[in-house]
Amino acid sequence: MSGTPDKKRSATDVVVVGGGVIGMSIGWRAAQAGLAVTIAEAATAGSGATHAAAGMLAPVTEADFGEQDLIALNLAAAERFGPFAEELEAASGRPTGYRRAGTLAVAIDRDQAEALERMHRFRLSLGLEGERLSGRECRRLEPALAPRVLGGVLAPGDHHVDPRAVVYALRSALSAVGAELLEGAPVRELVTGDGRVLGVRLADGRELAADRIVIAGGASAGAIEGLPAEARVPVRPVKGQILRLRATAAGPQPLGRVVRTEDFYAVPREDGTLVVGATMEERGFDTTVTAGAVLDLLRYAYEVVPGIAELELAELGAGLRPTAPDNRPIVGDGALEGLVWATGHWRNGVLLAPLTAAAVAGLLTGQPLPYELEPFSPGRFARSPQPAGSASA
Ligand SMILES: Cc1cc2nc3c(=O)[nH]c(=O)nc-3n(C[C@H](O)[C@H](O)[C@H](O)COP(=O)(O)OP(=O)(O)OC[C@H]3O[C@@H](n4cnc5c(N)ncnc54)[C@H](O)[C@@H]3O)c2cc1C
Repeated sequence: MSGTPDKKRSATDVVVVGGGVIGMSIGWRAAQAGLAVTIAEAATAGSGATHAAAGMLAPVTEADFGEQDLIALNLAAAERFGPFAEELEAASGRPTGYRRAGTLAVAIDRDQAEALERMHRFRLSLGLEGERLSGRECRRLEPALAPRVLGGVLAPGDHHVDPRAVVYALRSALSAVGAELLEGAPVRELVTGDGRVLGVRLADGRELAADRIVIAGGASAGAIEGLPAEARVPVRPVKGQILRLRATAAGPQPLGRVVRTEDFYAVPREDGTLVVGATMEERGFDTTVTAGAVLDLLRYAYEVVPGIAELELAELGAGLRPTAPDNRPIVGDGALEGLVWATGHWRNGVLLAPLTAAAVAGLLTGQPLPYELEPFSPGRFARSPQPAGSASA
């Protein structure tokens, strides 16, 4: 959509579309860099994938074959997380739930043990930290583990955070630095002209003029109107169902660190919550919680940590991971002047938020994209402009 937004009504340096952990972190960093920032969030800040997220910060236990540049990115992000959490806590006066507790990956049968060993050797070959442990050593670390746990690998550098606490903290930090957070403000379309962005139009018709637009709309980032086909990026939702259990008088918090197998993970929170996730499903924008998924997650978790049977079943939910066709982040300048993308963070958006935010704030203030993010620029999806009136197949 072309046009001239009413600059008198509302003008700012940057509009960030989407108030998830990515958009809020970018807004905070950009405002700290001296820019006037407005975040337009369709619903409530942090209510998308960020609300569902477990909060694992797991560059090592998530490292997979053939993803060396993504592993390097995740490691760089993990290094930034501690200082980011500290600064955010100081700026907001609120906790983030960041804990340097490590992650214990365990196996309960021979197949799992062999798969774990294969991954362990691969990760060691990349110089990643991990310590092989016997079943007994695992139970010494985590006494609630079942006797059937055969062994495990401790990743001492894979920590965790509470993404909902991060959102509360970002809310305060944004307000302290003068950034505007508009909630219940869906962006319907981008306003463009002369090959550049001019602003956004909200669903209620209001227009916000801005020199730069950052699209951080998570799984819906590709659906915003007003962009020519060749300037869009492909993003799809990957559904994750996840449970929250809560400690009771009969069943205290069973774990002190993240415990996972190839089927599930369990992430402890200080308040006694144990987050158990998560499915990976290609179901479009469906967020239904299904009995089968709940059954599977509880069964996998019960086999490893039988004490979960005493916990209260506090919350069932599902979130949509923003996912590119190659399952890699999409961060960097778009095809129109003034347009920046920050989406596609898939399973690691909480981990990556500090790094993406610093990189995007850098772009907005004239710095180049940091080298770790170069392989993840939106340019990899570049298409030739379509002739006017042509239909896509
Ligand atoms: C079950 C599950 C578990 C996960 N566990 C982890 C984990 O342990 N560690 C980890 O690092 N990551 C994890 N993730 C991934 C992580 O949650 C995401 O990568 C991250 O939250 C993405 O953040 P985001 O801000 O891009 O998206 P979102 O949090 O989805 O935020 C996007 C926001 O944009 C808004 N929006 C969309 N369109 C518009 C529009 N047109 N106008 C205005 N606003 C708009 C939405 O309302 C939404 O609030 C998990 C995800 C799921 C689903």
